Amino acid sequence: MPNYQPVKGTHDIYGKEAIGMRYIEAVLGAACELYGYKEIIVPSMEYTEVFARGTGEGSDIVRKEMYTFLDKGDRSITLRPEFTAGVMRAIISNKLYAGDLPLKLYYQGPAFRYERPQLGRYRQFHQFGVEEVGLDSSRADAECICLAVSALQMLGFENVKLKINSLGDNETRAAYREALVKYFSEHIDEMCDDCKERIKLNPLRILDCKVEHDQEIAKGAPRIKDYLSEASEKRFYETLNIINAMGIDYEIDENLVRGLDYYSEVVFEIHLTSPENKDYGAVCGGGHYGGLIKGLGGPDLAGVGFAMGLERVYSLMEDSHLLDHIEEGVDLYVMPVGDKVLDEAFEITMACRSFGYSTETPLAALKFGAMFKKAEHLGAKYALIVGEEEMIHGILKIKNLQSQEQKEISLENLQEELDKIFHEGHEEHHHHCHCHEE
Ligand code: ATP
Ligand code: MG
Repeated sequence: MPNYQPVKGTHDIYGKEAIGMRYIEAVLGAACELYGYKEIIVPSMEYTEVFARGTGEGSDIVRKEMYTFLDKGDRSITLRPEFTAGVMRAIISNKLYAGDLPLKLYYQGPAFRYERPQLGRYRQFHQFGVEEVGLDSSRADAECICLAVSALQMLGFENVKLKINSLGDNETRAAYREALVKYFSEHIDEMCDDCKERIKLNPLRILDCKVEHDQEIAKGAPRIKDYLSEASEKRFYETLNIINAMGIDYEIDENLVRGLDYYSEVVFEIHLTSPENKDYGAVCGGGHYGGLIKGLGGPDLAGVGFAMGLERVYSLMEDSHLLDHIEEGVDLYVMPVGDKVLDEAFEITMACRSFGYSTETPLAALKFGAMFKKAEHLGAKYALIVGEEEMIHGILKIKNLQSQEQKEISLENLQEELDKIFHEGHEEHHHHCHCHEE
């Protein structure tokens, strides 16, 4: 039996959701531009080594979640499970580090992970994120975190909850790792299979385990803050001070370790609460990274970045009614009254579009009542009524479909007349500004 179902964990995005996703991308992109970031568009696939090395052999993503296949030339290829490793590869391939530093890049697009599909979790999903490379400082880290928070505020969220932690430098993590192994060795028999692996590969990740019993055990584990080197501690508090001065609330979460191998120093996550308390998981995760670029064969440059899950952002916006305003209808619905004016109606429609008004018209004759139903369905603001008799005199009727007010306008000055009408009634909303062209 052929299987014509969508691939498990994938979803089609259409209608309101497609408009919403594009709107979110536009607002996030505009936020990035305010902070001096430029877009980078990278391939959806890389040689598997890029992620194995970049994302990290010890990460859940590389161990279990990647879509990896051999191409016809027997090369191992992987669909990106995240962007950072690929963006770093692009920075190295194109020697972008040779220009002005820091490099500030943002990206968006689909990512692929073989995970169990559930609320807020797909196998193909969309990420939006940034990387700032080449300036190793607490201020760069803080700026990046400010961007994540203010980008979400620009989307209308007021309840942005920032969780933050420091993983320290290499010495910090080496000492802490040892302490964790010592502690968890005594409990590992009662912990999940993943944790049994983690204790060997990357014990820090045990703190990230979502199994309840394991979380209980993790509560008794040594705390990283007791292992932070003096330099890391100072750096962490500098970052917190800057964030604080920007009026951003945060909560230090000592169990926050993040799922990828390359992080050091500050790491953070952003959580948003839905009005119905649905748990979609974190909407944003990120942090500082040290050896990543060097590990991929580039120069020794540090970076900081974050990634957001757009499906989760969309669902939360939808639940919080933050997308209601973008359900925009067309500006004009051109109504030919009778067969004889179909051509004229079509010409008028094309003219209105060239003036910058979104315009629809039935391409076949419809009854008057049916046209009004259509106009309502399309959410049209005005109806332009093209009558046989009026056309002889070069006159159209325009009807405000909300107030039902109707008046005559001359075809000759159509553009001026429309501009006048739309500017009067929609001062707060310029008609040329559609949601996808921020
Ligand atoms: P989680 O803990 O929820 O698995 P993560 O730490 O694996 O998240 P990151 O690798 O930091 O996630 O990715 C950044 C963001 O991408 C997450 O905060 C989340 O919003 C989103 N995301 C991650 N995995 C998925 C998925 N399978 N489906 C939808 N969104 C996802
Ligand atoms: Mg994950």
